[in-house]
Amino acid sequence: MSRHAPGHDDGPHTSGGPPPGGRYDALVIGGGIIGLVTAWRAAQRGLRTALVDPAPGGGAAWVAAGMLAAVTELHYGEQTLLGLNMASARRYPDFVAELEEASGQDVGHRACGTLAVAFDADDRAHLRELHTFQQGLGLESEWMTGRECRRLEPMLSPGVHGGLRVAGDHQVDPRRLTAALLTACERAGVAFHRDRAERLLLDGDRATGVELSGGTRLAAERTVLAAGSLSGRLAGVPEDVLPPVRPVKGQVVRLSVPERYAPFLSRTVRAVVRGGPVYLVPRENGELVIGATSEELGWDTTVTAGGVYELLRDAHEVVPGITELPLVETCAGLRPGSPDNAPLLGPTALPGLLLATGHFRNGVLLTPITGDVMAEALISGELPPEAQPFTPQRFMAPPNTGPAPAATPSPGSAAPSPGAPGAAHSPAQEQHT
Ligand SMILES: Cc1cc2nc3c(=O)[nH]c(=O)nc-3n(C[C@H](O)[C@H](O)[C@H](O)COP(=O)(O)OP(=O)(O)OC[C@H]3O[C@@H](n4cnc5c(N)ncnc54)[C@H](O)[C@@H]3O)c2cc1C
Repeated sequence: MSRHAPGHDDGPHTSGGPPPGGRYDALVIGGGIIGLVTAWRAAQRGLRTALVDPAPGGGAAWVAAGMLAAVTELHYGEQTLLGLNMASARRYPDFVAELEEASGQDVGHRACGTLAVAFDADDRAHLRELHTFQQGLGLESEWMTGRECRRLEPMLSPGVHGGLRVAGDHQVDPRRLTAALLTACERAGVAFHRDRAERLLLDGDRATGVELSGGTRLAAERTVLAAGSLSGRLAGVPEDVLPPVRPVKGQVVRLSVPERYAPFLSRTVRAVVRGGPVYLVPRENGELVIGATSEELGWDTTVTAGGVYELLRDAHEVVPGITELPLVETCAGLRPGSPDNAPLLGPTALPGLLLATGHFRNGVLLTPITGDVMAEALISGELPPEAQPFTPQRFMAPPNTGPAPAATPSPGSAAPSPGAPGAAHSPAQEQHT
């Protein structure tokens, strides 16, 4: 595998042409945040890297709220995933500093914390239980009375009866993060092929690159499939290696806070209203993001009147003053969901093919650690220890015994059982992000 120093100009990498010899070291399919961070880190480590996407820099991050919510997103049975989420959250400050330096762009990282509030006795009981669970895991969260919550956030409804303050759950602006990653990739010498990957190329039992929709063939030592919710649809990938990801639609509403109302909220506020989660994420630039629905409707990204109505209705219960704010945008995106809500990272059973997908509701949070572990896997062929529970092989059938993903403990569920909290596909398991 040939290497070159970051930024070293020994080939037409930024023009989209193949490197001398015609073969990339690493080829990434998909230019959402996960593909971009993988390509950036690979190029930084000296790999001749290409990225294929008709529209890099779009994807789910264009819609995402950008909560870095390792603690408030904790679900029962997802303790292993929590470990990865916390590890990525710890890397965020350094990651942001390095990316801002590399791109010359501000990514809107805000160390503002999160407040999860309760309205009635049931909510309070639920949050109290969550608090105990969090404390049992050594996580930092602090119980607050309704009055203390309103002292922190005066715009909260008088109906708030208590809440959990999580000082370490921050936020970043995913649109800015994506734009910065694009620039950092370009500066690190990643070759962009603005086209769709049509088919994985195989030579015997080895992945050797991709064919683009225009017919061009790109050869690569290692190919990373990072196509988000479409990762399970690429032609040419053997059936037993195809990642089991599915699209989970989320609708979001964006309001803006005029100067005269600032600061409207000082931190992310989240709540469960009528059994459904809602969050309000205030950005430094005056934007207020309200999300999100969670819908299993295939690849549909229609913004519906019902979705927007529910979001505004529930957010209004939490912060009645939102009705005064200008509505600037509605949008919908697709989370790449996996059977255990955890990502699939690293080598597959097909030599030459790696996965970086299935990040579901935590893709923004998991961006720093994904870049690091994927670069390591591309170079050494091995996943670092912190990522080993997330190997795609956990879903692969052992030879001749048929599919048996439920037989092995999975990172999303310490003790998986059908219908247990934390199992995917359960309509009762509403997701927050
Ligand atoms: C409403 C909503 C709110 C969210 N909020 C949060 C949050 O607060 N915090 C958080 O951490 N996460 C959040 N997420 C999740 C996060 O946005 C995703 O996990 C993450 O963006 C997934 O990134 P990705 O790069 O894997 O996939 P995508 O963003 O889906 O990117 C995949 C890319 O692959 C490309 N592609 C697909 N097929 C091909 C092909 N054949 N050839 C070439 N390219 C292809 C697409 O064009 C696309 O650019 C949210 C998501 C949604 C929808």
